[in-house]
Amino acid sequence: MTMLNQRMVTLGSQRSVIRELFEFGKMRAAEVGPENVYDFSLGNPSVPSPASVNETAERLIREMDPSVLHGYTSAQGDAGVRQMIADSITRRFGVKAKADDLYVTTGAAAGLCCCLSGLCNAGDEVIVFAPYFPEYKVFIESAGASMRLIPADIEAFQIDFEAFKAAISEKTKAVIVNSPNNPCGAVYSEETVKRLSAILTQKSAEYGQPIYLIADEPYREIAFKGVEVPYLPKYYKDALVCYSWSKSLSLPGERLGYIFVSENVTDAGNVYAAVAGAGRSLGYVNAPSLFQRVCAACANETSDIAVYEKNARLLTDRLRDLGFHVVEPGGTFYLFPRTLIADDVAFCEKAKDLNLLIVPGSGFGCSGHTRIAFCVPTERVERSLEAFKKLADYYR
Ligand code: PLP
Repeated sequence: MTMLNQRMVTLGSQRSVIRELFEFGKMRAAEVGPENVYDFSLGNPSVPSPASVNETAERLIREMDPSVLHGYTSAQGDAGVRQMIADSITRRFGVKAKADDLYVTTGAAAGLCCCLSGLCNAGDEVIVFAPYFPEYKVFIESAGASMRLIPADIEAFQIDFEAFKAAISEKTKAVIVNSPNNPCGAVYSEETVKRLSAILTQKSAEYGQPIYLIADEPYREIAFKGVEVPYLPKYYKDALVCYSWSKSLSLPGERLGYIFVSENVTDAGNVYAAVAGAGRSLGYVNAPSLFQRVCAACANETSDIAVYEKNARLLTDRLRDLGFHVVEPGGTFYLFPRTLIADDVAFCEKAKDLNLLIVPGSGFGCSGHTRIAFCVPTERVERSLEAFKKLADYYR
């Protein structure tokens, strides 16, 4: 048999728990009718993109020279597009950004891979806080580093700082934070961000090398009323931002995002070069040209995300009434209640019997919880409440 890269064979043949559930949902829908299946498995935005997205795409197709519109851009993204993004960052967050600080990517996934591969050498460690987006482990290991997981602070889903401090060593190259968070919806408070930054500043000085903070921000715009999402480069100089329009503009299939390497980052020119070099070596050059331009033009807009906040309120209140422990989400379209028994896998299997498709928390490094992706019409949430009640009654 041909000797292949076994790690890749394994990665390519495993189907994620979430995908399994999604496929099961489709099968059940054919048997019992889609209205009787409550699929909360996938984090796929349910609201359409703002009208300006298609209008801009149509206008560009009508007006631009097709050989430019569909041609190669610079590897790091079209210069005009990067300038528009830089202006938007400077205006919105008060952090100076220039076109040359930006690297346009195919989504946050590619952005994370470029940062990790650009920063890490074999033997490095990258710290991640549970609950976490499981692809981080894949991305970190592909960069030749290893993941160091900090157990969750299950009372508030902020950071267990004692565990964090104990995990940092001279091997720590970077820390990934994801706020608003998939899977728990938490937003790190300013106090959390300040404490995190102070510890990283102190540890970087102690080890005589920067520990980079990678902010994974696909959910930045989906923050509920009154919730501020601190912008990490304002608090910590060695912060890199991986942004994405997948969720805010409901464009996950178009694969657009960017990396921002502020000029304040230590040795910023080389860090940017390393990120760009990783993009080159991974083949992540020249994100799709048409949608680079569309996203830059619509960078200050979002889809109508009000339904996510409405669903969050409805589910949080109803599940609490049923006896679930729920930490109030600050944003996203995920809720992460505690399961009513310790075994979250068994709990989600029982839910499946009721056609309620929710994901065990253990896949996100936080057993005893379940993720409910409520990026669905409110009417489906309402119809599902009876199934949640039956689930709670079963364990009473
Ligand atoms: N990071 C987190 C926390 C996510 O939830 C996702 C997608 O669901 C991604 C990154 C990848 O997003 P993108 O579509 O921008 O690659």
